[in-house]
Amino acid sequence: MPSLQQVTILGATGTIGVNTLDVISQHPHRFEVFALTANQNVDALFNQCQKFNPRYAVMLQEQAAERLSVKLKQAGSATEVLNGLSALEFVSAHKDVDAVMAAIVGSAGLKPSIAAAKAGKRILLANKETLVMAGSLFMQAVEVGGATLLPIDSEHNAIFQVMPHDKRKNLEDGGVKKILLTASGGPFRKASGEELKRVTVKQALHHPNWVMGPKITIDSATLMNKGLEVIEAHWLFNASAKQIEVVVHPQSVIHSMVEYVDGSVLAQLGNPDMRTPIAYALGYPDRLQSGVSSLDLFKIARLDFEAPDTLQFPCLRLAFDALKVGGNAAAIMNAANEIAVEAFIKERIRFTDIPILIESVMENSQIKAVTDLEMLIKSDQESRIAAEEWVKRAS
Ligand code: NAD
Ligand code: MG
Repeated sequence: MPSLQQVTILGATGTIGVNTLDVISQHPHRFEVFALTANQNVDALFNQCQKFNPRYAVMLQEQAAERLSVKLKQAGSATEVLNGLSALEFVSAHKDVDAVMAAIVGSAGLKPSIAAAKAGKRILLANKETLVMAGSLFMQAVEVGGATLLPIDSEHNAIFQVMPHDKRKNLEDGGVKKILLTASGGPFRKASGEELKRVTVKQALHHPNWVMGPKITIDSATLMNKGLEVIEAHWLFNASAKQIEVVVHPQSVIHSMVEYVDGSVLAQLGNPDMRTPIAYALGYPDRLQSGVSSLDLFKIARLDFEAPDTLQFPCLRLAFDALKVGGNAAAIMNAANEIAVEAFIKERIRFTDIPILIESVMENSQIKAVTDLEMLIKSDQESRIAAEEWVKRAS
């Protein structure tokens, strides 16, 4: 029987956080929750603390932390409540922690992920924005800290599963020709240019196959999510832009594939349920029950594939551009996208404005080589300001 693993969950109240707790609750003799964190949802974090009894609960917002602390004390809980970014780093790097689920959304997840990497933890990385923004620095921190990095994004988890066993090898040594990154195509795969202009927030927040947080759901509708994933695959698997091909596969049953030089293509399949990659990464190298039902191939009956349409969905092209340019380009793109998505959700810009805004910010930003984290954070902030200005001009 393996020893009890202590797990910190960053972004515990989000979709990935909730699914992680679901898998953990199925294995009480294997995992114990060390810390749970959230932005400001006091009631959700309180209920999770009642159920999982973590040593620490962290809220980003100070007032929310105070309210949580009062509620927990009244309930007789021994959980200690902390607040702020430094507390997120503290529970990610604490000596008693074995694994960190990095499931904060957006660039807010960067610093705690880096803290976990430097402390040599097993990192279950859902927060793809960490790699998009600071891939080189994060991978370096993983290497230097001796951390074990396991991708949670379903596509990257699939690729990890079908890659040669020694994952540190470069692709050529492993006989890998290319990575085939699958994409559902989102809810507007068949929409005309005119229809795209009139897309409502409600329509964009309805993904055909996956239940996810609002930001990634909008990213999936614009195909920016796939763009972010191309950059994520580049860093995780040391793959060049040419070695990554996006394949639209509307059923979301094949989660991605790897093509080898001998013509073999290996794929990982499963129902679209994030508990599969979460259980894989929690248990690795063992396989754990996840609660996901068996894949019913007779019911699915067919699998379709098509090329992505980058004219209708320019965000995918922008991400490939950012990858090719390198330096701080992806950080600039990522920050502009976060502002654009927020502005669309608040109905300040149209759906089709999202790529126009991002491209405009990218074209007017200064591209620099990555020297340290501070310069990337500065690029992120400057890009946000430029994106906000674009929104103000447009609305
Ligand atoms: P979500 O919006 O459902 O949850 C986000 C979590 O982060 C919440 O717990 C929230 O409290 C916390 N949070 C938000 N802003 C924060 C801040 N500034 N500081 C600290 N905490 C903050 O998001 P999600 O869908 O669970 O996605 C989380 C991450 O996982 C994203 O990076 C996403 O791209 C990635 N991911 C999600 C899925 C999915 O199926 N949901 C799949 C692949 C990858
Ligand atoms: Mg994905």
